[in-house]
Amino acid sequence: MEKKIPELYGSLVFNNKIMREKLPKDVYKALRKTIENNTHLELDVANAVATAMKEWAIENGATHFTHWFQPMTGLTAEKHDSFISPIGDGEIAMDFSGKELVKGEPDASSFPSGGLRATFEARGYTAWDPTSPAFIKDGTLYIPTAFCSYSGEALDKKTPLLRSMETLSNEATKLLNLLGNTEVTSVSTTVGPEQEYFLIDKNLYKKRKDLVFTGRTLLGTMPPKGQEMDDHYFGTLKPRVSAYMHDLDEELWKLGIPAKTKHNEVAPAQHELAPVFETANVAVDHNQLTMEIMKKVAEKHGLVCLLHEKPFDGINGSGKHNNWSMITNTGVNLLDPGKTPAENTQFLIFLIAVVKAVDEYADLMRLSVATAGNDHRLGANEAPPAIVSMFLGDELTAILESIESDTFFGTQKRVRMETGAAVLPHFFKDTTDRNRTSPFAFTGNKFEFRMLGSSLSVSGPNIILNTSVAEILSQFYEELKNTKPEDMEAAVYELVKRTFIEHKKIIFNGNGYTDEWVEEAKRRGLPNMRSTPDALPCFIAEKNVKLFTKHHVFTEGEIHSRYEILLEDYCKTLHIEAKTMKDMMCRDFLPALSKYTTKLARAIQTKSQLTDIPCTGERNLLSTLSNAYDDLYTLEEKLESQTLAAESTDDLLETAKYYCDLVIPYMNAIRLIADSVEEYLPDDILPYPNYEQLLFSL
Ligand code: ADP
Ligand code: MG
Repeated sequence: MEKKIPELYGSLVFNNKIMREKLPKDVYKALRKTIENNTHLELDVANAVATAMKEWAIENGATHFTHWFQPMTGLTAEKHDSFISPIGDGEIAMDFSGKELVKGEPDASSFPSGGLRATFEARGYTAWDPTSPAFIKDGTLYIPTAFCSYSGEALDKKTPLLRSMETLSNEATKLLNLLGNTEVTSVSTTVGPEQEYFLIDKNLYKKRKDLVFTGRTLLGTMPPKGQEMDDHYFGTLKPRVSAYMHDLDEELWKLGIPAKTKHNEVAPAQHELAPVFETANVAVDHNQLTMEIMKKVAEKHGLVCLLHEKPFDGINGSGKHNNWSMITNTGVNLLDPGKTPAENTQFLIFLIAVVKAVDEYADLMRLSVATAGNDHRLGANEAPPAIVSMFLGDELTAILESIESDTFFGTQKRVRMETGAAVLPHFFKDTTDRNRTSPFAFTGNKFEFRMLGSSLSVSGPNIILNTSVAEILSQFYEELKNTKPEDMEAAVYELVKRTFIEHKKIIFNGNGYTDEWVEEAKRRGLPNMRSTPDALPCFIAEKNVKLFTKHHVFTEGEIHSRYEILLEDYCKTLHIEAKTMKDMMCRDFLPALSKYTTKLARAIQTKSQLTDIPCTGERNLLSTLSNAYDDLYTLEEKLESQTLAAESTDDLLETAKYYCDLVIPYMNAIRLIADSVEEYLPDDILPYPNYEQLLFSL
């Protein structure tokens, strides 16, 4: 390593330290004010910042700048402009103005807008998000930006996230001030996304059309050994993987991304990376970058990093755990149980607000993780079910139950719980937080939302969390605002008690992977939306439109456009998968099968000319394989006609449902037969690498 890690860390980031060094004092102060208080940036300040940024970028090898944004594809987008500016006589200067820093105008007609923006007015604009630091990558200065249409509608994943952070900050601050915590002037949401991924050899990857076109294997069967021995989880890192992780950490650290933990995951070839948490918008930017850099570093090592939710059948897929909390500008984590009665009151009211938010907006939480890829995981005994529920742990649940019944609560100490005196003992990180089956678990001082698929932008789930919790906090404020200070404790106690009684149906501390839970959840009336087409329509449900518009997170138009884009994305994904499967069947698998059956038939023919040589085995195998060939051929034709039928309507929801109910079953049927046949095919017959090679070759 050429530099020590503390020097290396953030060396390509225009961070606070660099700002302080490079900016005139008054400019630095004005910029900090903008960052901390979300205020407007004057043009002369912007100009000074732009100049300093440019100089720093050029010193660090940059020749270009780009407004980096997050369109609704879930990926990131960038268009590079060089700093050069002709000054006559064939000479140039290196130029970058405040205007260029603050605002860009990409021609963005090809990004999905869900009908928000007609092509004739295709221009969008990007606006600098000064709360997420600029950085240098590949010789370019990257400026994190929001992306909007000319009429101001959000066309990206950052704008609504920033709006949701603002509404949460406002509502939380109002409530805290009302509770007597008057020092607080703002509240940020913090996010730490743990990221799972697979690494496979690049040469093997390139030989599989399904991996190349869809990111997952559409055919293929597990070798004799899978993940059943649990020997991969936290196991020793193989040298190639270790070298990759080492490089990855360095690249991330240079960009100021606090990569912290790395280890092998449950499935063979599966790994995980967890960063230290950051403010939500920065965490989202950093997770997008992390995913990109994971792929890029893999290339350098002759590897491919798979971020698909279910690349292989028969072993675990990959998810992402979204750790979430709220922190005041005075540095208090609002989900950290406090040491004093006042802190406890504060903790309880914020905790119960999350309980209520998750219960009332469980549908939106499910929606926020709904993708074609994630449908393979949720409810498949490896990830939480498609039912949203909440794990609080025994201790916390006992505390709430004791409030419910106005009884004593005792752990280490017996403490009297009287109305009006919510004196709780300081309780430590609950040891029962190892419940891995809960979709939404309290883990000591934060919540961990575990339903996210590995490739998802974490923006969506955090928009839902922030907005729904902000709504409940605003309801609590309305209810308490006329309470006299001396009655406040008692009023909060009653509010916590009542809210717990009304919403405790969302709390489930047991094993979420069991069938009994599915039944129990049904009895409790919790929604179970098994597929993406089941989940998406709740986006446009009246109660949810009301939530988003009230808090100015989405306009009605923005909601409808996003709903359409999600449906479109689902349909396109399945269309590509169905077409890829057909291609692999017709051009790879069936020809291979035919080749092998021909070989078998010849063997049988030759053998049967010899007396006394049995060939019943070959005959049986030939018959099994020939039947399979016929079945596969018929199913493949059916898959094609069903795909065409799915595309025959203009109604996107109908198309999505058609894919879900009438195309996927054919893909499953084809896979079932093909995989059972694959077990008989010799390695040299199959024209692409099998699971054994893909998963156990590193
Ligand atoms: P574990 O889940 O194994 O107990 P940790 O609790 O240390 O591990 O953290 C898991 C993830 O949660 C890390 O990415 C970490 O940064 C994040 N995290 C920890 N505290 C918070 C917080 N207050 N807000 C958001 N994320 C957090
Ligand atoms: Mg975790």
